[in-house]
Amino acid sequence: TTAVLEIEGLDVRLSEGRAARPILDGVSLRVAAGETVGLVGESGSGKSVACRSVLGLLPGGAAASGEVRVGGRDVLAMDRAELARTRARQVAMVYQDPRASVNPLRRVGDFLTEGLRATGASAAAARQRALELLESVGIRDPEGALRRYPHQFSGGMLQRVVIAAALAGEPELLVADEPTTALDVTTQAEVIAILTRLKDERGTGLLFVTHDLELAAAICDRVYVMYAGRIVETAATGELFDTPRHPYTAGLLASTPRIEAGAPPPRPIPGRPVPLSEAPPGCAFAARCAYAQERCTRESPVLEAHGGALVACHRADEGITL
Ligand code: SF4
Ligand code: MG
Repeated sequence: TTAVLEIEGLDVRLSEGRAARPILDGVSLRVAAGETVGLVGESGSGKSVACRSVLGLLPGGAAASGEVRVGGRDVLAMDRAELARTRARQVAMVYQDPRASVNPLRRVGDFLTEGLRATGASAAAARQRALELLESVGIRDPEGALRRYPHQFSGGMLQRVVIAAALAGEPELLVADEPTTALDVTTQAEVIAILTRLKDERGTGLLFVTHDLELAAAICDRVYVMYAGRIVETAATGELFDTPRHPYTAGLLASTPRIEAGAPPPRPIPGRPVPLSEAPPGCAFAARCAYAQERCTRESPVLEAHGGALVACHRADEGITL
């Protein structure tokens, strides 16, 4: 299958005065057409920065090296005009808070049609397309919705509008950063159903960033686990959740509350996550890891194949189970 996103060896540093604070180290990640790929980890692990790099939206003063290819072309090497075209036609992003994506003073109709007009559609054609998009995300009164302002929508309904707008350019890739975290459980399920259906119908690749492992298990084909700005494990979803090989992945799973009868109570990972800039030499997870050995504080583990997974842990082949 063709890759709609290929990130290779991505390093990101933010400059702060004379110092440079590392955020991501050697991140590689791939999303194929029609595939849903999860990026999971605690907050502060660098997930959001990784996502923003895909749209060339790194914060000012950030220096990135490596490659971020969308449709085969490196986003990091694009000029402004090319980036704008890529954002309009190839990749779209949905954030946690839908209100951050809209202008509160503008009607939803204007918000939806302006992107379409920018691609050369007539006013009538843009309006027609906006109605279709609203319908496809389950807005029941699309005509009425066009006339309303963002504050007249609930968070869940507005997130649908934002998804509709994201789909206007028929992107090959949709990047969703915690898109349901701010929504109630029912709305969350509806938004997930919409994203999944759109992916199936249009073959859009979906990069889904979440701290919610259960959600990742439910919707993703493959999952990448990130800790302190590095990918520490990646595998097909079934394999990752059945046989976690990195102690951090196992810890995340053990700390997730489960609803089945007789399931063990959640066990939080001891300690706190550190950003890459504060990570000690060696394995960044060592201070929280029950399996840490002397070697772990000296040598940084690199991703290696174990079964169908890639794992960055010195003890991955010992069959660690928690
Ligand atoms: Fe734990 Fe060592 Fe593996 Fe890091 S490399 S996860 S400290 S066992
Ligand atoms: Mg985040």
